[in-house]
Order: sequence, then structure tokens, then C-alpha cells
Amino acid sequence: MTGRTDDKISQRLQAWRARVDETKAADFYFYNQPIDELCGGSRVMVRGREMLMFASYSYLGLIGHPKISAAAKAAVDQYGTGTHGVRLLAGSLRLHTELEETIAHFKKAEAAITYSSGFVTNVAAITALVGRHDYIFSDKINHASIVEGCILSGANFIRFKHNDMSDLERCLQKAESDAAKLVVVDAVFSMDGDIINLPEVSALCRKYSAWLMVDEAHSVGVLGATGRGIEEHFGMEGAIDVKMGTLSKTIPSVGGYIAGSHDLINLLRHASRPYIFSAAIPPAQAAAAKAAFEVILEEPWRITKLRENTDHFLGTLKEMGFNTLYSETAIVPIICGPDERAFAMVAHCQRDNVFALPVVSPAVPEGLARLRATVTAAHSPDEINRALEVMEQAGKAAGVI
Ligand code: PMP
Repeated sequence: MTGRTDDKISQRLQAWRARVDETKAADFYFYNQPIDELCGGSRVMVRGREMLMFASYSYLGLIGHPKISAAAKAAVDQYGTGTHGVRLLAGSLRLHTELEETIAHFKKAEAAITYSSGFVTNVAAITALVGRHDYIFSDKINHASIVEGCILSGANFIRFKHNDMSDLERCLQKAESDAAKLVVVDAVFSMDGDIINLPEVSALCRKYSAWLMVDEAHSVGVLGATGRGIEEHFGMEGAIDVKMGTLSKTIPSVGGYIAGSHDLINLLRHASRPYIFSAAIPPAQAAAAKAAFEVILEEPWRITKLRENTDHFLGTLKEMGFNTLYSETAIVPIICGPDERAFAMVAHCQRDNVFALPVVSPAVPEGLARLRATVTAAHSPDEINRALEVMEQAGKAAGVI
């Protein structure tokens, strides 16, 4: 129906339109930009301009990798583009099983299960594992999909201060001792780029008989000598009960997975609603994901390069006087303060063909608006130096440094 204006939902729509219109009028709307072309792994063509890409989650530069693209094409030739529907009922492609075995091997787990997105994976696993009368403990700045799962589960949802182990322990002490308990954290926090204190969170889980679930969306390919993630980073193989990851960042595909024990995966395969009631990853994407895990192990230089690029990028920003919070990874927040200052800094960068995005409230606390940059293995030293130069000028012009 059109022309509705006088009800609560219509008012909500109007308020959103006004907010977007205002941002566009101020020339501060940087979202949903049309990318016409990829120019190698580190540049994109936007409205006829080639820009240095500093907002990519393709941490190892695997988008367009010949082996991965070839695997996707071969899968289309063999299986077409769809999956007949839900795997439980319509059958599971051999490709899905092979992908899950590959993930289990990569994550050093007994088994794995995949879902059609990372977002859905978090919701699926959390709602299958805990429900009413149980307890879930979630880091305050965990990803939105974790929060969604916690709310939907109906469990007692307790948020502890970001990466604060004393607060987590206080929260665990308050829960009934014989209730089911799940602690869920990001490995690398997507807005701040810092790493969860796995040794302590794991010790607390053992002490209070809680299960530990870790979202490795930004740690696979990024942490650990061979890119296997946070357990490898800390030398703590087997510390995590529920290893969650996405297939849409370092892995250039789409989907999500849980890796863990045979019993865990068995439960998820029969009792997690997005597996039972939603279609699987399409063949091309499953084949691409499988090939990408193999490439990570075959081309370890990418991990070394990402680490070198991160050290150079982050180290220089700090020397320039930027506040990058506690980031130690490829996700680099450049704190600007008020939203307007972040918009101004980003506008300057975009004008000079550096593609980076602002993150403002309510996505981050007010006063901590930021330009969020990501560095990847695809960037050359010259490209990083050019971006640093532009960011320094932009930071000075916007009054950030
Ligand atoms: N977890 C984290 C930490 C994320 O950053 C994201 C995506 N930004 C997701 C889950 C969701 O993953 P996907 O995009 O694959 O749905």
C-alpha cells in the first residue's frame, strides 16, 4: 500500500529517510558505494575513479585467486547454481561434506557444519545450545549476530565489560551453579581490532563449568603462524568448545561454520533451526570456500605479508599520533571523537582516493567515532605509504592529530 503517512511505522520510515537525506546533503554519505570493478586485490573502481581499498575483509587478498575462481566455475559446471533446498531433506552435495571435512581439518576439530551466512551461524549455534533458564555471557562489544542469538535464545543474557576478566568472573559467580552456561566472545573485535584474552577466558570457563564459543570471523587467516586462528596464536589448541567462523572475509565466499566435537556437530545438524529450515551454501560458493582453505595452507607467505603490512601500517599511524585503541590486527580504528570529525576525515581520504569508512554512534559509543581502516596482504608497501600520507593530511585537516 502506498501513501501511508500517519501511523507509527510510517513515521519511523520518514525519520530514517530524513537521517539519510541529511547525511547525503552534508556530503557525508559514504555507504553502499557502487564498486564497478576490482583492480587487483588492493584497488577498486568507484564512479570512474580508482581508489586504494582500505575497507576490505579479504585479509589475505584471496578474492579473484585463480585456483579459487576455477573451483567455483567447475562447481557450476558440475552442479549448477542451486542446492534443491534444505540439506537435511533434499540431500547434501558431496561438495558440502568435503568443505566441512576441510574446515574440521583446518580448525583441528573432529567435525564441522556450515550455514548460509556467518550471521545465521551465530544465531543457529547459540539458540541450539542454550534456552530458558540457562545463562549466556557475552562480551559487551561482541558482533551484532551474537547479540541477536543471545536475545533469541531466551537464556539469561548477561553482558560483561569488554575483555574484562574480573567482570566476567563476577558475572559467572552470580549464575546458578548447576545451570547450563555458555560464554561467547569475538576472537578479534570487529570495531576495535583487539584480541580476546583467550588464556583467561578459557580458564574461567573451566573453573565455572561453562562452555566457550569464539567467533573467529576476523581471526582466521589473520592470527596464528599458519593462519589457523586464535588457538594457534596463543598455543592453546583445544581451548575452544564451539569454534565459529565466516566464509565471507579471509575466505572469499559466503557462509559460516561451526567446528567442534562430533557430538556438538551432531546436535547442530539435527537441532539448529537455520540448518533444518534454510537452504545450504550454493555449489560455487562451497567449492570456492574449500579451495580457499587449501590456498591458505599452500601459500603461507600471505600470512607473513599481512603481518608485515599490519605492523607497518599500525606502527606508522601510532608514530603520527593517532589513537588506534588496543588494535593489534589488520582492523585499525583511528579514533576521531565526535561523529562529524570522523565524517570530515573520511571525506578527505575519499577525495584523495583512499577508500575507508567512518563508524559512528550507535555502532560505537558516542565520542569514539572513528575512521576504520583494514590492511590486507594484497597491499604493496607503496600503497600503504600513500594511504598513510593521505590519512596524516586528513587527520590534521580534521583536527584529529
Ligand atoms: N561475526 C563477526 C565478528 C563479523 O564481523 C561478521 C560480519 N561483519 C559476522 C559475524 C557475520 O558474518 P557474515 O558477513 O558472513 O554473515
